[in-house]
Amino acid sequence: MRKPGGTKVAVIGVGLVGSTYAYTLMMKGLAAEIVLYDRNRNRAEGQALDLNHGMPFVSPLRIYAGSLADCADADLAVIAAGESQKPGQTRLDLLQANVAVTRQVVGGLASHGFAGLILMATNPVDVLAYAAWKFSQLPSARVLGSGTILDTARLRFLLGEHCGVDPRNIHAYVLGEHGDSELPAWSTARIAGLSIADFCAACTRPCPEPTWDDLFMAVRDAAQDIIERKGATYYAIALGLARITESIVRDQKSVLTVSTLVEDYLNLSDVYIGLPCVIGRDGVEKVIRPRLDQDETERLLASAATVRQAIESSGILG
Ligand code: NAD
Repeated sequence: MRKPGGTKVAVIGVGLVGSTYAYTLMMKGLAAEIVLYDRNRNRAEGQALDLNHGMPFVSPLRIYAGSLADCADADLAVIAAGESQKPGQTRLDLLQANVAVTRQVVGGLASHGFAGLILMATNPVDVLAYAAWKFSQLPSARVLGSGTILDTARLRFLLGEHCGVDPRNIHAYVLGEHGDSELPAWSTARIAGLSIADFCAACTRPCPEPTWDDLFMAVRDAAQDIIERKGATYYAIALGLARITESIVRDQKSVLTVSTLVEDYLNLSDVYIGLPCVIGRDGVEKVIRPRLDQDETERLLASAATVRQAIESSGILG
């Protein structure tokens, strides 16, 4: 992964998500070189100029607008190109348009001999991460999606606020599709090492009940809520993408809920969904298979079926 001169990241699609991610990478010093590619070359050049003008305030790195050929030797290609949700649209409504975009950019990378890792952010992210895996012909460990990293972050934030605990001390995962069929794995959630029931039993804060379903619905519907208010979401996903990047370039082996190929778990196969994974220099180094209760298992199977159905109806399989 690491080249003598440091890590090269290609950002493909530099609208709101891609450019905010590039800015986050720059702020965190996670890359030595960032190439920005967009169908709209003017936008990529404008973003490169704007970011470069901040160079005196950060550790030196190289940022420039380039072609897909310029992206071919990147260690990591992060894809945020394509249509985004309008108010009232679901992520699956973007399917046909964004499969075509994925075919074009991943096919272009492959034709230039790309052999790095691919991190998909474009929605519907699980279907498109699967598409990127198929179109790139890379090993599945090297092609991942942002999956439920953002939903998991939203759940940890809301739980933290509710319980008065730093979200970094909360381990609670949202699993499945990054979309309406996702689910919270409450049975495996831990606050400071305690199950939610045990934490609640010892808690003296006033707590309106029932709140767990409400909390999760706020997580599931967060994107719509934000899109209705300001048109798009990009800060938190950019931080999530940067967190995945950090675990890759620093080989941290962090456990993050990314979208990955699922095999040998609950009889699932040949589908990408969000599960906790160990992320390191080679991408998805281990897929964690949570031990879920019966209701959660049924919901995860239904969520995976939703993604699989979208894969089959999308033309990805030929
Ligand atoms: P945006 O419209 O601001 O930017 C999209 C960019 O893609 C534009 O600059 C456009 O020119 C470019 N583009 C389109 N087709 C292209 C192609 N074929 N080749 C190269 N570039 C192309 O949209 P955004 O708000 O940045 O969202 C981008 C994607 O990220 C959307 O699909 C959105 O739903 C998704 N998203 C995902 C998450 C997540 O959690 N995974 C969160 C937020 C947004």
